[in-house]
This record gives sequence, C-alpha cells and structure tokens, in this order.
Amino acid sequence: MAILVPGGAGYIGSHTVYELIEAGRDVVVIDNLQTGYRDSVHPMAKFYQADIRDEDALDNIFRNESIEAVIHFAASIQVAESMSDPLKYYDNNLYGTMVLLRSMLKNGVNTIVFSSSAATYGETGEVPIKEDSPANPESCYGETKLAMERLMHWCAGAYGLKYAALRYFNACGAHPSGAIGESHVPETHLIPLILQVANGQRPHISIYGDDYETPDGTCIRDYIHVTDLAQAHILAVDYLLGGGKNDVFNLGNGVGFSVKEVIDCARKVTGHEIPEVIAPRRPGDPARLVASSDKAVRTLNWKPKYDDLEMIISTAWNWHRSNPNGFAR
Ligand code: UDP
Repeated sequence: MAILVPGGAGYIGSHTVYELIEAGRDVVVIDNLQTGYRDSVHPMAKFYQADIRDEDALDNIFRNESIEAVIHFAASIQVAESMSDPLKYYDNNLYGTMVLLRSMLKNGVNTIVFSSSAATYGETGEVPIKEDSPANPESCYGETKLAMERLMHWCAGAYGLKYAALRYFNACGAHPSGAIGESHVPETHLIPLILQVANGQRPHISIYGDDYETPDGTCIRDYIHVTDLAQAHILAVDYLLGGGKNDVFNLGNGVGFSVKEVIDCARKVTGHEIPEVIAPRRPGDPARLVASSDKAVRTLNWKPKYDDLEMIISTAWNWHRSNPNGFAR
C-alpha cells in the first residue's frame, strides 16, 4: 500500500517524500508542476503530473494504485498574492481539496493528513499559541486553510473521513544531504532571501519594520526545520491509520527569533557580511508568532531534532550555496 502525496514536488512535500522513502514506504506523487519541481521528487517515488482539480485524473490514479492514505500539500501559498487574487486561492486550495476528497471517498480512501498553517490564527496576542486559540485569519491564504480544516471536519461527520490538520509555523532548512531544498519563484521567505544576499545574488536584506512591540523592534517567528515537519506528517498518518482521532496540531519549536536575530545567525553560519536595510512594515505581519506544539509532542510522539537555529540555517546554506538558482525548470 502506498501513500499518495499531492504537491509532492513542492518544498515541504518533497522533503516528506524523502522521509517516507527513507522509512521504506511506497509513495505516489501527484503535482501539476506549476510551482513544484520534477527534480525535487525522490527517484524512488512514482510520479504523475496532474492537477488535483482534475477529478478524472485523480480517479484513474486511485484506481491504478493501491493507496492507503493521502498526505496533501498541493496549494498556493503566497499571502500577498492571495490578497490580490483571492479567486485563485479559493480555486486551488479549497476547490482543489474538495475534488481531492470527493475522489478519495469515491475510491474508498478515507485518511488524509494535510498542510494547514499558523496563518489560520491571525494576530492572537497569545504566546505561545495553542490549537484552541481563536482562529481569525488576516489573509485570504489563511482563510482558505481554515476553510479546508472545516471542510474536513464536516466530511468526517458525514462520510467518516479521518483527518489531521498540521498547522506549520515558519518552515525552513533543507534536507541534510543537500539533495533538495527550498526554491520559490518569486522568493518571499526570510531565510532564503538572506542566503541569496550571502550568495551575492541580492545587495541587501530588507527588514520589514523595526518598530514592532518586540525587544529589538523586529518581528518574532518560530522557525521549524522542514525535515521535522516531514516526520510529523508520517507520525500523523500512522496515528490515524492506527485508530487515532481527527485533530489539529501546531508544529513549531516553541522558540521565537526576531528578524535581526535570524540575520545575525546567518552571518555567523555563512561568514558573509549580509548588509541590511530597514524597510516599511509588510501588511498583515503579526509582531509575534510562536507555537505551543505540546499536543503534537504528546499525541504523535513528535520529537523535532533541529531545535537550534544555527543548525537549521546551516542545512539551508548547504543547499543554497550549491544550488544558487534552485532547481532547473
Ligand atoms: N521578513 C523581512 N524581510 C524579508 C522577508 C521577510 O523582514 O525580506 C520578515 C517578515 O516580515 C516576517 C519574517 O521575516 O516577520 C518571516 O517572514 P516569512 O515571509 O519568511 O514568513 P511568514 O512569517 O510571513 O510566514
């Protein structure tokens, strides 16, 4: 029996596929390759280029393959783009998930683990944030992730769907072998942008606001290594297959770092100067987002290995230094 991974050619999806294969699991990947990369898919995974909104394609895959569960990553992920093009986000994220669920259930597959996000919370003011903190997304992206969670909830009641929603905080780092890493076009995330400065591809890193209510005035985030996120998906799928109950889990390290601290750490890791420039705040950025992941630790027996920012940035630097232009298209 195989695990089906829609979005398995993307950043977190490809790292999860590597961990699944390394754990001896059979994996089938579906990706439309609009933002994912064929080269990031582990050579031992079976690959279909397909879109999750294409129900006939999904039905064929479920009929041809022996699928025991789905780990679903296929989604659009840019907060700013979601504000200027909400229809794209409802279509790809929510409608895409509806089609995927319909095809799963029709074909007798009822277990799904999927990417949710800390963006479902919005500004809670709570530190750390627990799963029962109020969810008031500030972006259309976060709203579609919350809507996906609610869709699963109702499908569980109506059709017996088994689901786990994993709310990631700030995913970062790269596979320790350097085989795969983070590559977005355009890149909007802090750590890859800092490393592009270290690589000489950008003149400086812009700090989006230094007048927040935090000790150094810059935003605080909880940075969690992509391999630790990948492990949580495997634990969650096995938990559900073993009879565990449907639930929502935060995934973070529980430690916050400011933008300035991240830049300083990257200077140490890379040995490069990394000039910084103070820029205006980015709309929709809460001052502080730090997770309590106690539930995942307790319930899934999740043990994040990369709890040190220097170690996390080192794995990212290992990838970016060798692959300054990311994957080939
Ligand atoms: N950030 C920044 N400069 C950049 C990119 C990001 O100062 O060029 C800040 C951003 O405002 C946020 C933090 O870095 O406080 C992490 O941003 P990222 O986009 O990596 O993740 P997010 O927290 O939005 O999911």
